[in-house]
Amino acid sequence: MDQKIIDQIEAVVGKDGYSVEPSVLYTYGFDASIFHRTPDIVVQPRSTEQVSEIMKIAYANDIPVTPRGSGTGLCGAAVPIKGGIVMAMQRMNHVLNISVADLWVDVEAGVIYNDLNNELSKYGFFFPPSPGSAEACQVGGMVATNASGMRAVKYGATRDFVLGLTFVKADGEIVRCGTRTIKDASGYQLARLLCGSEGTLGVITEITLKLTTKPKKSASCLCCFSNVEDAGRCISAIIAKPLIPASCELMDSVSINAVNKARGNPLPDCGALCIVEVDGETDEVIDRDLKIVEEVANSIGPIAVIPTKDKKLIAQWTDARKSVMTSLSALKPGCSSVSLADDMGVPVSQVPKAVKAFGEIADKYNVTIATYGHASDGNLHTKMVIDPKDKDEWERGVKAVDEIFDVCIELGGTVTGEHGVGISKAPNYMKERASELSSIRAIKKAMDPKNILNPGKADQWEGSILRNLRYPCPEFM
Ligand SMILES: Cc1cc2nc3c(=O)[nH]c(=O)nc-3n(C[C@H](O)[C@H](O)[C@H](O)COP(=O)(O)OP(=O)(O)OC[C@H]3O[C@@H](n4cnc5c(N)ncnc54)[C@H](O)[C@@H]3O)c2cc1C
Repeated sequence: MDQKIIDQIEAVVGKDGYSVEPSVLYTYGFDASIFHRTPDIVVQPRSTEQVSEIMKIAYANDIPVTPRGSGTGLCGAAVPIKGGIVMAMQRMNHVLNISVADLWVDVEAGVIYNDLNNELSKYGFFFPPSPGSAEACQVGGMVATNASGMRAVKYGATRDFVLGLTFVKADGEIVRCGTRTIKDASGYQLARLLCGSEGTLGVITEITLKLTTKPKKSASCLCCFSNVEDAGRCISAIIAKPLIPASCELMDSVSINAVNKARGNPLPDCGALCIVEVDGETDEVIDRDLKIVEEVANSIGPIAVIPTKDKKLIAQWTDARKSVMTSLSALKPGCSSVSLADDMGVPVSQVPKAVKAFGEIADKYNVTIATYGHASDGNLHTKMVIDPKDKDEWERGVKAVDEIFDVCIELGGTVTGEHGVGISKAPNYMKERASELSSIRAIKKAMDPKNILNPGKADQWEGSILRNLRYPCPEFM
């Protein structure tokens, strides 16, 4: 990067507010996806005003800017694919104001999800989305990807809690949008537009979130089946009862085997399972709901149904579920679990059909695919376990995921329920959103006329996704 630009950036953020150190730049070229590209400079602003000044420099000099939270994204959205500036938000990590009477909290974008909930718990409130990356991901990253997790079926995704936010546009203009009221019918909902925008419309610097009371009681039921379709049937039958569980996690046999092998058998050996959590204010509510789950599971023909309030046992199941992704990488020597089609969404009633189809596609392309996820909101993860040095395996994998995405779209679903589009979903996102693309592009052009904010992603991606891989497969480097 031109020294004159570096000097201008230093004048805004100071010597300790940026880095051009090669090892630092290399590190900021990754997120948790399969992609990598080294940026030219990493800037760590401390205020909205500093973000604005940096954006003015980038705008005047046509420099790409990729906003970055904690880099836990799984689809390459935070990888600076065109180089330029990475705007890393970790220094803007303050909870600014909590107004429990008005049911809102103001935070800076770099606040970590778990840190926010630790603060809110002092008042009996919480911010429910609960992504699997809760210990690391930033609230700004969650808004930018509309993240969610285990509790989305009952409580909603990040978007459902955003009352307002402050963001900086490509040209440096600071915009405050939305309100601090629970209701707001005041025209276009710009704050909502920024949810899921993946850093392509502005740099989010502050967010106002709606507060929700934390339920006092919870319990879980482990339902084990001989096959994954039965587990899927169990989940849609619970919801149809009607009973909206606090969470309901599905795991197929590949996921169960991987976790049992890597973590010393925390789960029963079976063809598939679901862990159903119920919550509420009183023991009566919990007992009633737990009984409904037990009855429904028993009606499907299970191998075992284990209802419990034992916190230690529940923690064992939850930890086992959370360790699927890492356990998969230990399944076969030399192999890694890679995120290609990792979080599709289908209508809940279509979960059994979808998981059956994923199994058939895995057989057709001779690839190992684990299916698991937050199935009570129809959100299914498939992780492929491949040898990342094997070109042929990558190519079979990409064919398999294209078919997986086709199945989900045909079933009325989406290519991404929570992780976002980034690079890995780009070609299939364009298929899914074909009729919206011209409107999406018009919005982008109006907000970022020089296309400097996270360029080259989503609808701007061209060709195969097997490019800029982080793995040592020379054909795709
Ligand atoms: C083990 C593991 C489990 C996961 N489980 C879940 C899960 O259950 N649910 C789920 O939804 N996701 C999950 N994820 C994915 C990821 O954690 C989420 O997408 C998270 O919201 C990303 O937050 P981040 O701060 O790491 O953002 P990053 O990865 O740094 O960035 C993600 C995107 O947001 C943009 N961005 C970040 N901050 C800003 C900002 N301030 N302004 C504008 N744009 C910004 C970036 O440009 C990028 O496009 C998981 C990831 C891992 C590694």
